[in-house]
This record gives sequence, C-alpha cells and structure tokens, in this order.
Amino acid sequence: MDLEMDADADIDSTEFSKYVVDRMQQLELKNDLLEKQYQKVETEKQLAEDQRLKYERELRKLRSELDKLKTTPQLVGTLVNVLDEGKSIVRSSTGPEFIVGSSQFIKDGDLKPGVQVALNKEHLSIVAVIPRSEDPLVQAMEVIESPDIDYDQIGGLDKQIEVLKGAVEFALTKPEIFERIGIDPPKGVLLFGPPGTGKTLLAKAVATRTDATFIRVVGSELVQKYIGEGARMVRDVFEMARKKAPAIIFIDELDSIGAVRLDDASSGGREVQRTLMQLLSEMDGFNSRGDVCILAATNRWDVLDPALIRPGRFDRLVYVPIPDREARVKILLIHTEKMRLADDVDFDRIATLTEDANGAALRAIVMEAGMCAVREEKDAVHQKDFEDAIKHIMNPEGMVDRYSEGMFA
Ligand code: ATP
Repeated sequence: MDLEMDADADIDSTEFSKYVVDRMQQLELKNDLLEKQYQKVETEKQLAEDQRLKYERELRKLRSELDKLKTTPQLVGTLVNVLDEGKSIVRSSTGPEFIVGSSQFIKDGDLKPGVQVALNKEHLSIVAVIPRSEDPLVQAMEVIESPDIDYDQIGGLDKQIEVLKGAVEFALTKPEIFERIGIDPPKGVLLFGPPGTGKTLLAKAVATRTDATFIRVVGSELVQKYIGEGARMVRDVFEMARKKAPAIIFIDELDSIGAVRLDDASSGGREVQRTLMQLLSEMDGFNSRGDVCILAATNRWDVLDPALIRPGRFDRLVYVPIPDREARVKILLIHTEKMRLADDVDFDRIATLTEDANGAALRAIVMEAGMCAVREEKDAVHQKDFEDAIKHIMNPEGMVDRYSEGMFA
C-alpha cells in the first residue's frame, strides 16, 4: 500500500515539473514577443519625435520669412556726426539732415562719421550700420597690386625720375634718411604737363620700385551725382590705401575736382567742392612718413586751386614736358625694343619728323609702322613704314581716314 502511494507521488511530481518547464517556455516566448513589440513602438516614437522637430523647424523658418516680408522698409542715410547722449546727425539719401537716436544694439565704435546707416522709416533712428562695400568704387578705381613698369621703360624723363626717387621712393623705402636729415618727405607730388607724356607711367614705375600697391583714381569719376558720394569715395580710397599699404594713390585728372573754386552756387559745383575739401582734409590728416604716398597728375595746372599746391599738400611739383628730339629717340628705342627692324631704320630722322609728338603718339607711330609691315607681309619694319605711320598719326586728317576705315570696313 505504501509502495503504491510512493509511485503515485513520483508520477505527480514529474508531470508538475514538466508543466512548469512548459509554462516557463511559453512565458519566455511571450516575453520575447513583448520585447520586440516594445522595440517597435520605441522606434516609431523616435520617428514621430524627429518628424515633429522637422515640422517645428519648418514652421519657425516660415514664420521668420513672414516676419521679414511684414517688416517696414528702412531708409539709407549717411552719418554726419556723433553727438552726446546717444544722438547723431544723419543725412538721409534725399538730402535733409536730422538729429536722431540709435539702437542700443549698435556698438559705439561702429558709429563713425561717413558710415552708411539704415534708418527706421517712422522715427528715423539708426537701426543698423550698413557694412561698407567696395563695389561702387570699382568703376572709379584701378588697383594694381604690383605694376610691372620700370624706370627703363620711360624715355627722356631722367630728371623727373630723380625727383620721384627722392620724394616718393625714399619716403616709402628709406624713411630713416628723412628722419636723419630732420625733414618731412613731401606730402604729395603733382605731375603736370601736356597729355600723353608719361605721367601715369612715372607713377606706376615708382609703385613697382617700392613694391607698393598702385591705386589710380580718375578725378572726373569722383564727381558723382549724389550729394556726399564723391567725398565718401575719397575717404574710401584713402582707407583702402591704408589697408593695402605700402600704397601709392595716383589721382589722375586732378583738375576735375581741384579747379579753382568759383562762386558756383549750383549743387553740382558745391558737390565738387565738397569732394575737394574731403581730399584736402585727408591730406592734412596724413602722416607723410607713413607707408602711403599721394601722386596726382593734371594737364590743366593753370586752373588748379592754390589750396592744393600749398606746402603740406601737393608740395612737390614735377613738370613732365613734351619730349625733345633726344627724348623722342629714347622713347622710340623703348617701344621698338622687341620689333624686328630693317637696317635702313633711322631713329634720328624719325625723331626729326615727329616734332611735337608726345610719348603716346610715338608709341602709336611704332604700332602703326608694325601694322604696315604686317599688312604688306614683310620680314621686318622699314624706314618707309615709319614714315607712312608718321603721316597717318601726325596728320589729323590721316587719323580720320584711319578711324573711318576701321569703323566702316
Ligand atoms: P594723360 O595726361 O592723358 O593721362 P599721361 O601723361 O598720364 O597722359 P601716360 O598714360 O603715362 O600719359 O602715357 C600713355 C602711353 O604713352 C604710355 O602707356 C606709354 O606707352 C607712352 N608713353 C608716354 N610717355 C612715354 C615715355 N616718356 N616713355 C615711354 N613711353 C611713353
């Protein structure tokens, strides 16, 4: 009886453990399944979160775009002067001047006379300082980092070169010489003389010798339509020169802004005067022992305002004349250096035939002679080609023929 009961108990416990194992396996499977479902939901949640962030970003972008479209336009003005207690004088682009306040977000150092500012349309207070772009200057300025003209490419101007060496080259490269002697180098050098005689060439050669950036501004292009624009350009030119120093500022056609001041009441006349005043004040505030030199050129020295040629401004005057016979030979030799010339070419005779020709005309004669030889398919340029070229270039009627041939051919 006891034995029977023991056997039954054994069977029960085996079945029970089997049941437990089965149950455990079932639960483990279920657990795995739930685990996987959890992972899936978690991933979906992450995706939904990403999507939400993306839409929020999109919304912010659209809102700011909308705000931008809704903002009122601002006026552009020029800061004339900074007063006390956060007030400034600005000139609006239409002309009148106003005393206005400025936004607290603008740094005090950014508000300097001459900068362009954005003005609120209603109360004209300064909202922002407009960064200065050098673009408008491009048309008025020619900037050559290192011109490649040397003194040996200039004929017959040895005396002028000597003066420039002393006044500009040494001021830029050996300022200690001036210090030793105890004098200041000239502030500005004015090259004056008839057109086409090599004034620009001289300025470029000095820039080459001194490794200076050559900044050429044409006076007539500084005469602008809008009030204050010419003066702003003058300021920009000097600022650019300081940035690119050592630099040589070369103002060509100085007479366009520096002609004697007449009692000209027109707004155009006043604008030219304002530009000149700006140039004078830039020159006055300039240290001539610095690394920027000012050269200018004019064909009309007779009309220049005496204020310009006062000591401390263009105080060194260099006359660049029409070349004499000897200088003409030198210029011809320079421009024919790379040409193949026939044995009959006689530079003395060419120089005799080109009385009154300037350097630019001599260069044109050489070019024309070369073109004659090319047209006739010769091996070298002959004396006759030069003589034909002289007739063409030196005779104004010939010039008309030449241009009309070119124009209507
Ligand atoms: P402008 O007053 O009309 O501006 P400029 O006096 O500045 O004239 P440049 O522009 O220097 O004259 O000269 C024009 C060209 O004539 C030069 O590119 C050069 O080829 C030639 N030329 C003028 N003078 C000389 C010279 N003395 N030696 C060599 N070439 C010269």
